[in-house]
Amino acid sequence: MSNGFFSVPKPTNDPILHYKKGSDERKDVLNAYKEMWNKSIDVPLYIGREKIHSEQKAKMSPPHDHKHKLGTYSLADSAHVHQAIDAALAAKKKWENTSFEHRVSVFLKAADLIAGPYRARINAATMIAQSKNIYQAEIDAACEFVDFLRFNAAFAADIYAQQPAQGNGVINRLEYRALEGFVYAVTPFNFTAIAGNICAAPALMGNVVVWKPSDHQMFSAKIIMDIFEEAGIPPGVINLISGDPVMISDVVLSHPEFSGLHFTGSTAVFKKLWTQIGNNITNYRNYPRIVGETGGKDFIFAHHSARIPELITAITRGGYEFQGQKCSAASRIYLPESIADVVIEGVIDNIKSFSMGSPEDMNNFITAVIHENSFDKLVSYIEQAKKDAEVDVLVGGTYDKSKGYFVHPTLLKTTDPHYTTMETELFGPVVTVYVYPDRDWKNTLALVDTTTEYGLTGAIVAQDRLFIEEASARLRHAAGNFYINDKPSGAVVGQQPFGGARASGTNDKAGSALNLLRWVSPRLIKETLVPAKDYRYPCMD
Ligand code: NAD
Repeated sequence: MSNGFFSVPKPTNDPILHYKKGSDERKDVLNAYKEMWNKSIDVPLYIGREKIHSEQKAKMSPPHDHKHKLGTYSLADSAHVHQAIDAALAAKKKWENTSFEHRVSVFLKAADLIAGPYRARINAATMIAQSKNIYQAEIDAACEFVDFLRFNAAFAADIYAQQPAQGNGVINRLEYRALEGFVYAVTPFNFTAIAGNICAAPALMGNVVVWKPSDHQMFSAKIIMDIFEEAGIPPGVINLISGDPVMISDVVLSHPEFSGLHFTGSTAVFKKLWTQIGNNITNYRNYPRIVGETGGKDFIFAHHSARIPELITAITRGGYEFQGQKCSAASRIYLPESIADVVIEGVIDNIKSFSMGSPEDMNNFITAVIHENSFDKLVSYIEQAKKDAEVDVLVGGTYDKSKGYFVHPTLLKTTDPHYTTMETELFGPVVTVYVYPDRDWKNTLALVDTTTEYGLTGAIVAQDRLFIEEASARLRHAAGNFYINDKPSGAVVGQQPFGGARASGTNDKAGSALNLLRWVSPRLIKETLVPAKDYRYPCMD
C-alpha cells in the first residue's frame, strides 16, 4: 500500500472513429479481418493459469458465411467447471487484498489496450463473429467497452469515498468488501462490450469470476481474454468456461460458494436461473446477489406534433441497426393517423436504400442475423404475418440462408395493437407499426404501457411540450431508459446508464455506480478512541 490517496483519471467517452475510405483505421481493421478470417483457431477454456484445449469442441462460423470455418472452441465437462470454480476461489484472497490502485490499474490498462493496439482486432472479431458492420462494431467492442472500463474505475473510486459521519471520540469507516465466494457471469451474443463488462465490473470490486460466454460470441470472447491477460489481471480472477449452459449452470449454482449472478440475456433464461438459485438457497453460505438485464419490446410513440424527418430516422436506426438485435431496438411503433402515411413512406424508402451483405464490405448497413434458430424464428413470424388478415407486410418479408442468415428488413402494419409482433421480442429486423386516431393519444399511451411484459426502453417523438410532460409521466414504468425525440437505442456509458424493470431485468444500470454496488458487501468498522470505563449513565448518582 502506498501512502497517499490515489485518484482515478477523470473518464471521458472514447471518440468514435469513422473508418472513411483511405483512413488508417479502415486499413487496420480490414487487415485484421482478413488475417483472422483466414486463420483457424481453437478457443481454449481459461482456467487459472491454464489454457485447456478440451477434446470436445464446437465449430465457429460467421453468421454471414456459415460454411466458412473460423475454427473451434473447447467444450467444458463438469470437471472443468469445478476446476474453474476452484481456480477462482484460489485467486480470491490475493485479489481482494490487492490495493485498489493496482486493481484498477489493470482495468485502465485493458481500456488503453482496446482503445489502441487491440482496437482493430476486437472490432474485426466482432464483425466476424457477430456480423456487425464496422460502425456497430466500433461503438460496441471498442468505444463502449473502453467506456465501461474507464467510467467504472471512477465510479468505484466514488463508492469507496462514500464514508459515514464521524462521532465524538469515534472513528467510523466503511470497508467495501468483495463478496465472499465467486461470481457467475453469463453473457449474450450481441455485445462484446457487455460480455467484457459483466466480468470486469465484479472483478474491479475485488471479486473472482467464472464466465460463461454465449456460444455465438466465442470468437470475440477470446480477444477479451487476451486483453485481460495482457493487461495483467492475475490468473484465476476471470475464468472462461464454454459449453453446455445447462450443465455449467447446474454445477455453478449448486456450489456453496456461489455468491452472485451477473447475467445479460433473454428473460426466459434469467427466470430459469433465478428459480434454480431459489431452489438452492439453503445450500449457500451467503444470499447470492442476482443482477440480470434481459429482454425488451421497445417502443417509439409519435405524437402528431412530431417532426417527420427525425421520426423517420429514429424508426429506421432504432429498428434496424445491427438487424434489430439490440435489446433496446425499437420494434413496436405507434403513429398518429395524420402523419402515418408519410412516415411509413419515408421508412420504406430508407429500407429500400439499405445494402445488405458481409460486414467486410463497409457499404453494408445490414448484415446477417446471428444463427439459424434466430433466422428460422424470424421467418416463421414473417410467414405468419403474410397469412394474417390484421397485418400487412409493407416492405421486406424475404430471406435467404444459403450463404449467411440474411433476413431483409421488414416493416409490418397491423390493425391489432395486440398482434403477436407488437408483444413478442423477435430480436431481428422486423418492426411493426400500429396507427391510432390522433385524438386518441391518451388511450394509446395506456396501451403502450400495458401491451408487453417488458419495461426496457422507449421513445416519444413530439414537439408539443405539454404532451411530452404528460407522456413522460404516463409511461414512467414502461421503460427504464426513456428517450424524448430520439431512438430508444444507443445508450452511452456515463451518459445514459442502461437497464429496465418488469420482465426486462433487475435494472441495476450497467455502466453506473448502481451496478458496482451490487458486487460489494460493506463492512462498517467503528473504533472508539477512549472507551467508557463505567456502565452508569451521567443521570445516575
Ligand atoms: P440467451 O438468453 O439465449 O443467452 C444468454 C446466455 O445464457 C448465453 O451465454 C447462453 O449460453 C446462456 N444460456 C442459454 N440457455 C441457458 C440455460 N438454459 N441455462 C443457463 N444458461 C443459458 O440470449 P442471447 O440470444 O445471447 O441474447 C439475446 C437476449 O439478450 C435478448 O433477449 C436481449 O433482449 C437480451 N439482452 C438484454 C440486454 C439488456 O441490457 N437488457 C442486453 C443485451 C441483450
